[in-house]
Amino acid sequence: QFPFGRRLPCDIYWHGVSFHDNDIFSGQVNKFPGMMEMVRKITLSRAVRTMQDLFPLEYNFYPRSWILPEEFPLFVAEVRMMKDSDPSWKPTFIVKPDGGCQGDGIYLIKDPSDIRLTGSIRSRPAVVQEYICKPLLVDKLKFDIRLYVLLKSLEPLEIYIAKDGLSRFCTEPYQEPTLKNLHQVFMHLTNYSLNIHSGNFIHSDNVNTGSKRTFSSILCRLSSRGADVKKLWSDIISLVIKTIIALTPELKVYYQSDIPAGKPGPTCFQILGFDILLMKNLKPMLLEVNANPSMRIEHEQELSPGVFENVPSPVDEEVKVAVIRDTLRLVDPQKKKRKDVQQHIESCKNKINIRYNYFMCYRCQTLEHVSEANEELLDAGPADRREYGTTRSPEAGLPSLCLKQVFPKYAKQFNYLRLVDRVAALFIRFLGVKGTTKLGPTGFRTFVRNCKLSNSNFSMASVDILYIDITRRWNSMGIDHKESGMCLQAFVEAFFCLAQKKYKSLPLHEQVKSLIDFCEYHLAALDEKRLVCGRG
Ligand code: ADP
Repeated sequence: QFPFGRRLPCDIYWHGVSFHDNDIFSGQVNKFPGMMEMVRKITLSRAVRTMQDLFPLEYNFYPRSWILPEEFPLFVAEVRMMKDSDPSWKPTFIVKPDGGCQGDGIYLIKDPSDIRLTGSIRSRPAVVQEYICKPLLVDKLKFDIRLYVLLKSLEPLEIYIAKDGLSRFCTEPYQEPTLKNLHQVFMHLTNYSLNIHSGNFIHSDNVNTGSKRTFSSILCRLSSRGADVKKLWSDIISLVIKTIIALTPELKVYYQSDIPAGKPGPTCFQILGFDILLMKNLKPMLLEVNANPSMRIEHEQELSPGVFENVPSPVDEEVKVAVIRDTLRLVDPQKKKRKDVQQHIESCKNKINIRYNYFMCYRCQTLEHVSEANEELLDAGPADRREYGTTRSPEAGLPSLCLKQVFPKYAKQFNYLRLVDRVAALFIRFLGVKGTTKLGPTGFRTFVRNCKLSNSNFSMASVDILYIDITRRWNSMGIDHKESGMCLQAFVEAFFCLAQKKYKSLPLHEQVKSLIDFCEYHLAALDEKRLVCGRG
């Protein structure tokens, strides 16, 4: 810990809250710039909704949500319409303040008119969401899952999921919501921070019992009941990858603003906490993503009235220690050095074969033992590990990795979803001034001109009107007043508008894909022309 600041650069910076620190030019930081903003309830809902517009079926793991106060009329109208078309539909909604955590300010309602549209909602916007009424119950209790996910790199995208997580239980038996039980937080909200205050909370030394258990213990139970646990895992992996795909476009905008390409800067990685609810039919639903998941491995115990003591929590320890240990193993700067040395040795060996009978490389000789610590060792279980004479790998003796790579491993299955990433790449190209996150009117005009999007049906005057209309609306939502101009989501909306205009009869995702291909083609041609002119 450096409470008074640092003098020397570090290999790894482990920040408590966010990326920001004034002078990091190298190494790796355990936070991405903009992640905190991206996982707030409103921003996450917006990002997922953009993906739902493009791929409704693929993104049906997130409850239908509306943003308050601005979408209150839409919420009322849509609920009325759905009730009219299906009078048997008796929904419940959950209102969650933006930026809230630990269940703070959350309440359930049966009807849009029950929303407390008082002064507080104007000053503290919120998300209202369809409440999942039929969750999977264990021992008659509702529970959710906290899974740890390592975003190891944004470009190229690398995602790991921890093989085990936590299950956090309510402390009152669950009943479907009625007007009488709506306010019973110990029945409806699974937050540990709330339920710990219920007299029924059970601290257990056993990972299979109590109010906090390992997720693997739940899976064992489900499996013994005959549930298809493999399918459940693959649905969870798919949910995690799709959610991160929804977040990456804007994260890249933040990233280039804080760590401009071509300038010395650190790389980033981040442990995220995914909160997932299982429905009765075992479908996983995303509740939220935490940028700063608690890594505490102790809990407070009241020894006598008013006297508290921190005691170890075996369940937290089992899951969280493995996550942090393996994150460090995966981002280990020495591992990269060892890989480089290995490559160097390989190239030396080639030289031996080709040019000399005998080749002595001082660097190889001294570092040879280090080269033995390769990827295979990392992935092997303890039993598989070989010992290399007296020089053991630093990985030897450690348990096998709890973090499982899911991307790029499954990239082929998911890459077609990454359309907004490509729109973001266009946006970033036209941002111009380094360090900014918003596009000015000139940048937008240049984008339209360079991609050859204006024609007799779509004049430059209409381009300006489109820019002004959309930018004004997004800026009036009061998201970020620090900079003026068009934010990425506004650009995405404008891009979807242009795509719909140009490719009328196709489904939205095909319209957008066609327009991206069209823009990329013209920009590549332009780059080629500039290169040739430059050479000339
Ligand atoms: P917070 O950040 O305040 O914990 P969450 O979004 O995690 O907010 O919601 C708190 C709790 O409310 C969740 O842990 C879950 O038990 C319950 N919850 C949230 N959203 C829903 C939903 N759509 N359907 C059912 N339960 C929900």
